[in-house]
Amino acid sequence: MPEFTQPSEIARETLRQLAMRRTPPTPDNYRAFYHEIAGTVAAEAFPEKALKTVAASLPRETPEQMRHARQLETAVTDKNWDSLKTALTEVFTRMGAEPPNWAALIRELVVQTEARHAGLTAAKKRETLDHVLGSSGSPDVLFGRLQSLLRNWAQTPAAAEAELADAPAAAEIPVAAESAPAPAAAKGGTAKVPNTELLDLVAQLLENAISILLVDTPDLAAEAAQLAAEVRAARSEEQISGVTGRLKKFSYRLNFVAEDQAELKTALLHLLQLIIENINELVIDDQWLHGQVSLVSDLVSQPLNLRRLDDVERRLKDLIYKQSSLKKSLNDAKERLKAMLASFVDRLGDFTETTGDYHDKIGRCAEKISKANDITELSDVLDEVMRETRVIQLNAQRSRDELMDMRRRVDESEKEVARLQNELSQASEMVRHDPLTGALNRKGMNEAVEREVARVRRHNAKICMALLDIDNFKKLNDSLGHQAGDDALVHLARVTRETIRPQDTLARYGGEEFVVLLPETSVDDAVAAMTRVQRELTKRFFLHKNEKVLITFSCGVAELGETEVPNEAIARADAAMYLAKRAGKNRVVAG
Ligand code: GH3
Ligand code: MG
Ligand code: MG
Repeated sequence: MPEFTQPSEIARETLRQLAMRRTPPTPDNYRAFYHEIAGTVAAEAFPEKALKTVAASLPRETPEQMRHARQLETAVTDKNWDSLKTALTEVFTRMGAEPPNWAALIRELVVQTEARHAGLTAAKKRETLDHVLGSSGSPDVLFGRLQSLLRNWAQTPAAAEAELADAPAAAEIPVAAESAPAPAAAKGGTAKVPNTELLDLVAQLLENAISILLVDTPDLAAEAAQLAAEVRAARSEEQISGVTGRLKKFSYRLNFVAEDQAELKTALLHLLQLIIENINELVIDDQWLHGQVSLVSDLVSQPLNLRRLDDVERRLKDLIYKQSSLKKSLNDAKERLKAMLASFVDRLGDFTETTGDYHDKIGRCAEKISKANDITELSDVLDEVMRETRVIQLNAQRSRDELMDMRRRVDESEKEVARLQNELSQASEMVRHDPLTGALNRKGMNEAVEREVARVRRHNAKICMALLDIDNFKKLNDSLGHQAGDDALVHLARVTRETIRPQDTLARYGGEEFVVLLPETSVDDAVAAMTRVQRELTKRFFLHKNEKVLITFSCGVAELGETEVPNEAIARADAAMYLAKRAGKNRVVAG
């Protein structure tokens, strides 16, 4: 036990010890002595401000650098030493693992510059190189761009013999004396016919595909349109070589835009993650909401595609809808309770007032009694006492009745809130997910079927529908109880979801029946996928009160025919499921 317990005593003793031991009274020494005397451990404060300054001064020229800087910033904001360590380790590991190998790069540059490539003259190569050298700010950026340039050259086919024959006798670039001119910019006596089909294709590419990608950079989009027109109009050698130069520059600017867009996507995802974390902190104590939030969070942490974004959007809509409705009904209930409490306090006020009055009156009566000289005076006083007592009795009775009434109304309100919550979870027309299992409900499934079927039909691909029905579920309910049955449904949905592919969809079709949509899948593959789910269920037991319970299901699979509507395929899957039941259950049958 330390001798000193009061902070002021410890402080005084610390100063005394500093003087006695002739130690300089620096803040660090003071702190060390203080903790020594108090018998406590000095907890080092997280140097958030200093680290934030460091993080803010980190370079952010490449997407990679931005990512590292942000990672570090998040770790500092969270005051998380572990994340900080991970962030720094990652940077150092990268530094150690891939030092830019300039020697190899320069060697490759010489090789590729000297090599003869179809459509690439020495002059063009030099022009491109000049551009890269002039536009890359830092050595890292330069290294990356040179690498991609060399990769590009290396993938360009070698120049054909015919092209070489057209090469000028003495080229203007020494390193590429034998370099071939591009067909479109061919030099020499006979003028070549420009490849108009290729030019048209380039123009189309600029007009259709590239301009869509540039909606956020209108000046570049306008340049794409102008270039497209020029490419279309270019017929002479000179025009083509002019437009080729501009196309090159354009393609570099396009490169930067692509990098920016990738960076923007990462930043938006980061933002989304923050919003989701925030929702999770705000949501009321509701398991379903928390479950949905963690699902959305999982989805966002994986590489994105349109299908996944779609899913995120739908789940977020569910969340927002449910959250706002719950908030409204809970607010209403709160208002009602507040009003009741207010009237209760009023009643209590009245009550104490009357009883206070009563005490005064009884006090006065007692005085009259003590001063009473004859029986008639006493009888008057007694009459008064009786009257007042009756009044107070009536008041007490009234207050009790009112309190009982209020209590009944509070109970009703509570029931109303519970009913509203239940109704929302069970039957909301807007919600697309089954509240128990988190799988899509019928409405969600119909939407998913429509979307997936349209998608596979656009791509001329196949889609399979599997219908599964839990075996002997009634028995499980009867022997272990309805709650265990519910838990088993949750378990089955979780195992299924974790076993099927991300692009497959799980929906609760009815009580203990589920539908799995398997886009771009043949019947054989769908049967194999559902058999894999069965195998997984035998490995991951459902635990009920620490007892292992094996859940099995029977399943039918059908591929959607070209002219079939989705419900017909589901009906065939259902029929196949019944065959599976008849054949002994726990199996998958193709319909
Ligand atoms: P089979 O192997 O032939 O499919 O038999 P089964 O018992 O699974 O099928 P049956 O259709 O006879 O019974 C289904 C049972 O599922 C009846 C119903 O009480 C139960 N059930 C349906 N929905 C739920 C639910 O949400 N929770 C629970 N606990 N039970 C449910
Ligand atoms: Mg059934
Ligand atoms: Mg069943």
